Amino acid sequence: MKKAAFYSLALTLATFYSYGQTKFVPEDTEYYSPKPPIITLQKNIPSDATILFDGNNLENWESSSSPGSSAPWDITNNILTVKPKSGNIQTKEKFKDFQLHIEWRSPNIIKGNGQGRGNSGVFLQGLYEIQVLDNDDNPTYVNGQAGSIYKQTPPLVEVRSKEDKWHSYDIIYTAPRFNKDGMLISKGKVTILHNGILVQNNTQIEGTTEYIGLPQMKAHEAGPIILQDHGDLVSFRNIWIRPL
Ligand code: MG
Repeated sequence: MKKAAFYSLALTLATFYSYGQTKFVPEDTEYYSPKPPIITLQKNIPSDATILFDGNNLENWESSSSPGSSAPWDITNNILTVKPKSGNIQTKEKFKDFQLHIEWRSPNIIKGNGQGRGNSGVFLQGLYEIQVLDNDDNPTYVNGQAGSIYKQTPPLVEVRSKEDKWHSYDIIYTAPRFNKDGMLISKGKVTILHNGILVQNNTQIEGTTEYIGLPQMKAHEAGPIILQDHGDLVSFRNIWIRPL
């Protein structure tokens, strides 16, 4: 039984057995197990996180177009940067529900406009893109700006670059659920903090984030995190994930 379901059941039973009593005592609604696991922070990373990129190598990543082949992007000074035209990269491990932390930076040299400026993306389960874009003074369609679920839902607010130009996304994701026949039971949901500011609040993901056309929703299993090569020199660092 999942922990949340256990807690809910325990509270329901406590409520049931207390029903009809004229008086509650505090202990009626208290329980002591199972205890939540203890997590500590080590260099701001939760102790139970899987580190996907710590600046040293890309051993947890592979080419998206050629799974099994090494990820072709560059690491310089512990920072990962898109290698334009080399293609997307993805985690070797596949995930379902998770909490993901990722930091990104737009190219130093400002070039292009709209979707052509500092474009990359973080694909959840390889299918649903959270947009990465340099949209400081760079108008574009709002459901394609940084922090949007691409071509679906704009961010609640537009978060601008910090002084050091690095951004962070903290993404809490619940995957869609399908029954054994592949029929949709519930759509995916995502909450995103952009530089610590809420930009998606348990937003429903309607389906795949298509450039042209409507979202598609097809049954799928666990999937990788994909980082997008959109031809721009977007950089990344400090990527970790906690499967939920
Ligand atoms: Mg993109």
